[in-house]
Order: sequence, then C-alpha cells, then structure tokens
Amino acid sequence: MSVLYLSDPARGEVFARIFADTMPDLPFHIGSAPDPAAVEYMVAWTPPADLSAYPNLRLIFSVGAGVDQFDMSALPPQVGIVRMLEPGIARQMVQMAVMATLSLHRDMPAYLDQAQRGQWQALTTRDAAQTRVGVMGLGQLGHAVLAGLAPFGFDLAGYSRSPRDIPGVDCTTDLATFLAGSDIVVCLLPLTDQTRGILDDAFFAALPDGAHLVHLGRGAQLDTDALGRALEGRLASAWLDVTDPEPLPQDHWLWSHPRVIVTPHVASQTNAAQGAAHVIAGIRADRAGQTAPGLVDRDRGY
Ligand code: NAP
Repeated sequence: MSVLYLSDPARGEVFARIFADTMPDLPFHIGSAPDPAAVEYMVAWTPPADLSAYPNLRLIFSVGAGVDQFDMSALPPQVGIVRMLEPGIARQMVQMAVMATLSLHRDMPAYLDQAQRGQWQALTTRDAAQTRVGVMGLGQLGHAVLAGLAPFGFDLAGYSRSPRDIPGVDCTTDLATFLAGSDIVVCLLPLTDQTRGILDDAFFAALPDGAHLVHLGRGAQLDTDALGRALEGRLASAWLDVTDPEPLPQDHWLWSHPRVIVTPHVASQTNAAQGAAHVIAGIRADRAGQTAPGLVDRDRGY
C-alpha cells in the first residue's frame, strides 16, 4: 500500500514530512511510484488520463476544494474522489466573501473609479438591514459565509438544491424567489452540468434593480456576455474571483470595466500542512472501513 502525490512538488515536500511523522509505515511518493500496483491513494489536481497502471487505487484526493476538473465518467467506477476540506479554505472564503460583499454594498467600484479622476464625491449609503444578501450554494462554504455576514446585520437568504434550514437565513430551493429577493447575490455553487452557465441573461433579469454579483464559484458558471448586458442595464456592479478563461486575458473588457472588480481566483488557497492532515484523516477513515470526509457523490458531480 502506498500514496502517490502528483501536484506541486514544494507542497508535496510538506505532505511528505507530515506523512513521515504521522503514518511512517505508509510509503509516500512524489511524482512517481516505484510499484504503481501498490498505490491505493493518490493526491492530485487532476489524475493521469490512464489509470490502468494503478489497479488497486481506492481514492483520489483533490488538492483543491472543487472537483469539476475531474472527468468523473472517465474514472474507474471503484475509485472514489475526495474534495479538499481543510478548514483554512472556509476561513479564507469567509474573508473574501465578506470583503467583496461589503465592498459592493459600500460602493467601492464607484469610489475606485472616482479616485482615478481625483473626484471627491460621497454616494448615499444604504442600511445593511435594508440590504438582502443571498448566497447560492449552502454547502460548507455557503454556510460559513452566511455566518460571517450575519454580524453586519444584512437580511440573509440562501439557495440550494435540497431544502436546508439555517437559523436566521431565509433558505429556499426556488431560484426565482431567491433571485427576486437578493440585492447582493454571492455565488458559491460547485460547477456541475446543472450549474454551468447558470449566471445567464435569465439570472440577471430575475435580480432586483441595482443588484450586485459576487462570483466566487467557478468561471464557467458565468455567461460573461450576459454579465456585460446586465451591466448596461440593471446590474450595479460585480466582483469576480473566477472567470472563464483563467487567467483572464490582459486585454479583456472585464479588467477595465468601472463597475467590475476582478481578483485572480484567490478566494481560498489550500494550506499544505492542513491539506495533508485532511488526506491522512481520509486514509485512516478508509482503512477503518468508513467514508472519507469529503467523498464526492460522483453521480451528483459534487
Ligand atoms: P459543497 O459543500 O459541496 O456545497 C455545494 C452547495 O451547492 C450545496 O448546498 C448544494 O446543494 C448546492 N448545489 C449544488 N448544485 C446545485 C444546483 N444545481 N442548484 C442549487 N444548488 C446546488 O461545496 P463547498 O465546499 O461549499 O464549495 C462550493 C464551491 O466553491 C466549490 O465547488 C468550488 O467551485 C468553489 N470554490 C471556489 C474557491 C475560490 O477560490 N474561488 C475556493 C474554494 C471553493 P445541496 O445542499 O442540496 O447539496
């Protein structure tokens, strides 16, 4: 039995040290394994296209929170995919979501634009209690972000596939109702066949006048042309941490739009040491016959 690590080598050294300390009997290889048949666990962003050399592979651990980079249909059916759940991911996401939501709520794009011209001009503030913030996706990150936003006094709502109950949050599975009641909408959905392109013309048309978008999910969920049309109409501003493509080309219109803030997919980054601890917990669970924390439902796609 062994572990094969196939991602950034410097971070792999951190993993290797923690594995050596914590599971010294389990061989941990970076880049390649001397005996591929012994590999039961893999740590990767994307696995090799051909996994036939690893007949005893049980679990592939993603080094990132999302698993949309995996072609699930191409993976052998017995191989489980585990998403990265190290706690720092949620903490960083809360910081980013709160920063972006407050920035749009407090007209930061307009002030950055005015600053280009040295223009000192106050805009009218709005009360947080009169501002409805809706979070799309009520998983571990959506939950954490709602808890992070709560102290600011926003009127909070949440949207998910299956019914959720979060104290102080108006949860719904009805997208039209949710969008009509969101002055600021924060997207934290996983990228699946159902959510690809979900931020389209119909999405923007369903938002109230003067709404704002904070997009922290995946770039391919946003129809960028539809965003452009919405910005010419009723959408006030957008903060995009994810784009399609990534990196966003230097001459893309999004960079210079006065009411759009782009950050280069930096909301959360996996901490290598905590990531290793998450993988070790998953391997231990699997060896004990239990489900590894973060095991993905391959049919659902997340
Ligand atoms: P998660 O725990 O799997 O939660 C996903 C949530 O989305 C669940 O509430 C789920 O509904 C809901 N959902 C999925 N498909 C849906 C659909 N078609 N319609 C409505 N709701 C749907 O995921 P997470 O850990 O919170 O992460 C969410 C995503 O954030 C990741 O997949 C990744 O793409 C993104 N992310 C971005 C960054 C960044 O740096 N920008 C960093 C980390 C993660 P149910 O509750 O009914 O299952």
